Amino acid sequence: MSQKMCIFASAMEQNNESKMGIGGLLRRLLPFVLPYRWLLVATLALTFVGSLMAQVNAVVLDRAVDRINALLHLDGGFQWGVAARILITISIILLGKEVLAALITFGQRVFGEKIRINVSRDLSLRVVDRILQFRMAFFSQDGNEPGKLQTRIDRGIMSLSNTVKNFFIDILPLFTSAVLALVLMYAANVYVGLVATAIIPVYFWITAVQGRRMKGWRHRVFGTHQQLSHGILNIIESMGVIKSFNRERVEADKQAALQEQSTDQQLQTRRISFLYEGLKTFVEQIGTVLIIILTAYLVLTDYPGMSIGKIMYHVLLFSNVSAPIRQLHRIYDDLNDALVYAEGFFGILDAEQEVEESGKYHPERVEGRFELCNVEFTYPNGTHAIRDLSMTIEPGKTTALVGLSGAGKSTIVNLLDKFYSPDSGSITLDGVPLGEWDTEALREQIGLVLQKNHIFSGTIEENIRYGRPGATHEEVLEAARKAYIYDQVMALPDGFNSNALQLSGGQQQRIAIARMFLKNPPIIFLDEPTASLDAIATEQIKNSIDAIKQGRTVIVISHNIGQIIDSDALYVLDTGHCVQSGTPTEVYRQGGLYKEIFDASARSMNVDKIADTLT
Ligand code: ADP
Repeated sequence: MSQKMCIFASAMEQNNESKMGIGGLLRRLLPFVLPYRWLLVATLALTFVGSLMAQVNAVVLDRAVDRINALLHLDGGFQWGVAARILITISIILLGKEVLAALITFGQRVFGEKIRINVSRDLSLRVVDRILQFRMAFFSQDGNEPGKLQTRIDRGIMSLSNTVKNFFIDILPLFTSAVLALVLMYAANVYVGLVATAIIPVYFWITAVQGRRMKGWRHRVFGTHQQLSHGILNIIESMGVIKSFNRERVEADKQAALQEQSTDQQLQTRRISFLYEGLKTFVEQIGTVLIIILTAYLVLTDYPGMSIGKIMYHVLLFSNVSAPIRQLHRIYDDLNDALVYAEGFFGILDAEQEVEESGKYHPERVEGRFELCNVEFTYPNGTHAIRDLSMTIEPGKTTALVGLSGAGKSTIVNLLDKFYSPDSGSITLDGVPLGEWDTEALREQIGLVLQKNHIFSGTIEENIRYGRPGATHEEVLEAARKAYIYDQVMALPDGFNSNALQLSGGQQQRIAIARMFLKNPPIIFLDEPTASLDAIATEQIKNSIDAIKQGRTVIVISHNIGQIIDSDALYVLDTGHCVQSGTPTEVYRQGGLYKEIFDASARSMNVDKIADTLT
C-alpha cells in the first residue's frame, strides 16, 4: 500500500472511532420515516396478523395428530367418516390460512417497499440539496473526491433505506412471532418453554461476538470500495492520457492491487460470517433435538397435557422462535453495515461548517470595485496559494492578472467569487466585505469564463440558456451569434438541439462565452477564455469580449500577451504575492518578471519573423 493510501486508511479508521449506535441511527432515520407513519401502521398491522397466522400450522398439527391417534386406537374400530371429516377440516383451515397469508404478505411487501422507496428518495433529495449548498473547499478535501463521495451517498442511501425496512417493518413482526410462539410453548408446558428460552441468549451471545469481530472488517471493506470506485472514475476521466502514454497496464495493475485487497477483505468477512452462521445453526439444531427429547420423555412418562401431537406442536413452535431470531441476525448484520454507511452519509448532512455562508447585503446596483487588503489564503490541502496580497480592481476597467502557472491567478478569481474565504486580510466589493454580501446576489453580478468550462449533458440551447433560465429562444441565438458559434451550430444536423457534449473543446468554450453573454453581468472574470480556440476564433472572441467589456469591471487572466496589453491595469503575481503593478507599459518599463514573461512570449511567437512576413 502506498504511503498516501496508508494515511487515508488510518484516517478512515480514526474517523470511524466516533461511532453512531443503533439507537442514534434510528433517531436519525425517524424524521425520514414519520411522513409515512400511516403507511407504517398499516404495514405493521398486516405483519402482526401475518405473525399470528404463522402459529396456525403448529396448532392444527397438534390437534390433527392427536385426533388421528385417537381414531387409530378407537374401540369401535377405524371410522372412515370421522377420518374424512378430520382431513377436510385440516385442508380447509390450512388452505384458507395460506390464501390469507399470501394476501397479507403481498400487502405487507407492497406497503413496505413503498415506504423504503419513498425514504430512499427523500434521503437522496436531502443529500443533493446539501451538497449544492457546500462551499468549494469541501470538494477539495481529502476523502471528498467525486468517486468517494458518490460511493458514500449511494451506499448510504441503499443501506439506510434497507434499515428502515428492516427495522420498522421486519423486526417488530418477527419479534411478535417469536414471542407469541414462546407464549404458546409456555402455555402448553413450562419446561419446554424454558428449554426454548434458554437457547435464545446463546444465540444472541454468538451474534454479538460475531458483530464485534466483523466491525473492523466492515470499515475496511467500505474504505476499499470507495477507493475502487474513485479509481474507476479516474480512469474514465483520464482515458486520453492513459492511452497516449500506453499506461493501460499500469492503471490495470493499480486497480488489480486494490481489487486484490478488496477480495481478501470480502473473503475474510464472509469466512467470519460463515463460521458464526454455522455455529448458530448448530445451536438451533441442538435446541430442536432438546425439545424433541424433552417432549418425547414427557409423553412417555404420561405427563399431564402432553400427547404425541404436542411433540410436533413444540417442534413447530420452536422453529417459529428460532427462525425469526435467525432473521434478526441478518437484520443486525444489515444494521451494522448501515452504521458504517450512516456515518459517511450523515457526515455529509451534518457538515454544517461546510455550508456556504451568505450575508444579507443585496444592493440595487453594483459599481464593481474590488479591494484586497493583506489577503492570505491556503487551500484545504495546505497549499499556501496567496501571500500578503493587496490590490484594487477598478470599476469599469479591465485588469489583467499575469504570472507563471501556479502563481495564484485563478485562486484570486476563486476568492473574488466567494468560492473560498481568505484565511486573513479583507476582500471588499464596493466597500462591503464579501462575507456580508448575499452570496447569490454577488454571483448574479459576476460572469465567469474559465479555462475548462463545464458543459452539462443536454442540448446546446439548454447549455447556453443556463446563463439566464428565462431567456427566449431568440436571445439564446443572439448570444450564440455574439460568441461566433451560431453558424457552426446551425450546420449541425440537429442545430441548437444537438448534444453539447459532442462539440469540440473550442466550441464548448464558445458555448460558455455565449452563456456569459446571455447572463450579461456587470462584472466579468475571464480565466484563459481563449485557451482552446484557434487563431480566427480567438480574434472573433476577442472582438466580442472587447465589445462587452465597455463599462464593466473585467478581470482577465491570459498567457496571450495580445489580450493583456489591452488592459487598463495589470498585476504581476509570483507564488501568490503581487510583485509588480501599473499599466502594461509602465510595468514593462519597470523590467522584472513581467518583462521576462512578455519578452519570452514575443520570442516564442517569433515576432520578428511575423513582422517581416507582414511587411
Ligand atoms: P494560476 O491560476 O496562477 O496558474 P492557481 O491559482 O490555479 O494558479 O494555483 C495556485 C496554487 O494553488 C498552485 O500551487 C496550485 O497547485 C494550488 N491550487 C489550485 N487549486 C487548488 C485546489 N483546488 N486545491 C488545492 N490546491 C490548489
